[in-house]
Amino acid sequence: MRTSELLLPTLREDPGEAETISHKLMLRSGLIRKVAAGIYTYLPLGLRIIRKVETIIREEMNRAGAQELLMPVASPAELWKETGRWNFYGKELLRFKDRHERDFCLGPTHEEVITDLFRREVRSYRQLPLNFYQIQTKFRDEIRPRFGLMRGREFIMKDAYSFDRDEAGARVNYQKMYDAYHRIFTRCGLTFRAVEADTGLIGGTSSHEFMVLADTGEETIVYSETGTYAANVERAEVRSSETPDDQAMQQLQSVQTPNRKSVEEVAGFLKMGLDRVVKTLLYASGKDLIAVLIRGDHEANHVKLQRLLGVAELELAGPATVEKVTGAPVGFAGPVGLKGIRIVADHAVKSARNVVVGANQADTHYVNANYERDFHIDQFADLRNAKAGDLSPGNDGVLKTTKGIEVGHVFMLGTKYSEAMKATYLDPAGKECLAVMGCYGIGVGRTAAAAVEQNHDDKGIIWPYPIAPFHVHLLSLGQSAAVSEAASRLYSELQRAGLEALWDDRDERAGVKFNDADLIGAPYQVVVGEKGLADGSVEVKLRKTGEKIKIPASEVAVRLSQLSASFSDTACS
Ligand code: ATP
Ligand code: MG
Repeated sequence: MRTSELLLPTLREDPGEAETISHKLMLRSGLIRKVAAGIYTYLPLGLRIIRKVETIIREEMNRAGAQELLMPVASPAELWKETGRWNFYGKELLRFKDRHERDFCLGPTHEEVITDLFRREVRSYRQLPLNFYQIQTKFRDEIRPRFGLMRGREFIMKDAYSFDRDEAGARVNYQKMYDAYHRIFTRCGLTFRAVEADTGLIGGTSSHEFMVLADTGEETIVYSETGTYAANVERAEVRSSETPDDQAMQQLQSVQTPNRKSVEEVAGFLKMGLDRVVKTLLYASGKDLIAVLIRGDHEANHVKLQRLLGVAELELAGPATVEKVTGAPVGFAGPVGLKGIRIVADHAVKSARNVVVGANQADTHYVNANYERDFHIDQFADLRNAKAGDLSPGNDGVLKTTKGIEVGHVFMLGTKYSEAMKATYLDPAGKECLAVMGCYGIGVGRTAAAAVEQNHDDKGIIWPYPIAPFHVHLLSLGQSAAVSEAASRLYSELQRAGLEALWDDRDERAGVKFNDADLIGAPYQVVVGEKGLADGSVEVKLRKTGEKIKIPASEVAVRLSQLSASFSDTACS
C-alpha cells in the first residue's frame, strides 16, 4: 500500500486523552480514533492489526476443533431472563426497547444465545462434543472505559462455547482451549502467563486468565516464586497465617484524632503500625448497606466481598450515607456501638488485639478496641487481597506480586446455563441429560494493545512480526526519477516475495518519514535514496534493534524474506 493513498493520520504529540503507552501510541500512529467514550473506529492500519490477531485466533480455534459461527449483537430479554442475568448483570448490560416495546440488550457475552441454539438444534449424545466460536463485536457499558482498546465499551471478542456429555469431556475441551490460547498468545509474540481466576459475572466452577505481563497492567497477579501457583489477586485465597495475638486486653479509650481520616494518617498520628488500625468500610449494593472491617495494612477484595454477598454490583457508600449510618463524617466509622447494619470482617481482624477503630464521632477514634468485648461481628470471611510475603495457597512457599493485562479467559461452566435453559441431550439409554459447558474469551483489541505495551520504545511501536500491520516500511527519499523507479521496483519485488510493504511515497522530508516509520513500527525499514543508489544499494533498518545494513537493491526482497522466515509465524502446521 502507498502512504499517499492511505488514511494514516500520525500525530507528533501525545494526545491529552491518553494515559497509557499503548493508547498514546495507537492514537499517534493513526490506528484508532475515538467516536465516544470506549467506542472507537479502527483506521485502515489499525484494522490490519486486528485482522492479523483474528487470523491467528481463527487458525488455532479451527485447529483445536472449534467451529465458527456468528451470533447477533442484539439479543432478546427473554433469554437473559431465563438465566436470571437480565436482572443480575447490572448496568454493564446495555438494554433498549424495539419499536414494539420489547426489551433487548447488546450482547456483552453469548452464553444465553448459544445455549438457546444448542437446545433447539442438538438432540443426541452422538452429536457431542461440540465447540462453537465467533469473532464478534461485544458491548459492555463499562463504568470506567479507558486506555483505548484496552477497556472499551464496544470491542471485538473471540468467544467460544463447548458442550459435552459430562464433566470429564468438558475438561478435555477446556484443556484444548487452554492449549490453543498458549499457541495464540505465543504466535502473537507476547510474554504471558496463565493464572487461576475468579469466574465473575459469567459464573461457573473454575477458570484461568491469560495475562500479558506488563507494569501498566490493571490486574495484580500473585505467584509463588519457588512453585507453580499463580492467580489473579481477585481470586487468590488467603491462608489464614495470623498467629493469635496474646496481648492482654487494655482499656478501651476514645482519643482525639483531628482531621486524621485515612489509616495512614491515623496510624502516623498515634505512632502505631498500620496493622494496629482496623478500617471500617461501608459498602452499598443497591439499597443494601454493609460494614466491612479490614486490618489497616490489608486491602479489601471486592470480588471476594461480592461473592460473599451474592451481588453483582458493590460500591463504597457515599458521604451522606456514611454520615447517616455512623453519625460521623467519612473517616471515623467504627464497629463499636454501630447498630442496624450487618458487619462482616476479614479473618485477620479476629485475632487482632487492642486495635484502633473509628469512634463514629467526628475527629475521634478508639484505641484498645477488642473483638467480642467491644464490638460484634456477624460473619468472618476471607475478604482481603493476598499480598507479597503471604503463604502461597498452593503450599509452595511465599507469594510475590506482579502486574498483568488480562487478554484471555477460559471457564468451566458446568451446567449453570444448560440447567437454567434446559439444554439437554439424549444419552445412549434415551435418558435426557444436561450438557456440560465451557466458555472461552479473548479480547482482540486488548491483545493488540497489550502487544504495544510490551513492545515499544521512546520512538514508537515495535510490532511483533506476526501481527505487524506491514512487514516492510519502504521509504523513498526525494522525488527524483531514479529513486521513484527503484522504490517502485522494490515495492513490487517485496510483494512478490510475500512481504507486505507500506511504501511512503509522499513528498515529505526524510526526517518526517523516518519518524513516522519508527512510530508505526513495521519490523523492517528499507530506505531508498539517491546516495545509496549511486552504487545500487539501499539501507535496511531493523526496527527492534536499530541495526542498519547496506544491501544491494536487487537482493533486498530475497534477503528480507529469508530473514523473516525465522521471525514469521510458523506455529500453525
Ligand atoms: P475485565 O475483568 O478486564 O473486565 P472480564 O473478566 O469482564 O474482563 P471476560 O468476560 O472474561 O472479561 O471477557 C473475555 C475477554 O474479553 C477478556 O479476557 C478481555 O480480553 C476481553 N474484554 C473484556 N472486557 C473488555 C473491554 N471492556 N474492552 C476490551 N476487551 C475486553
Ligand atoms: Mg469486565
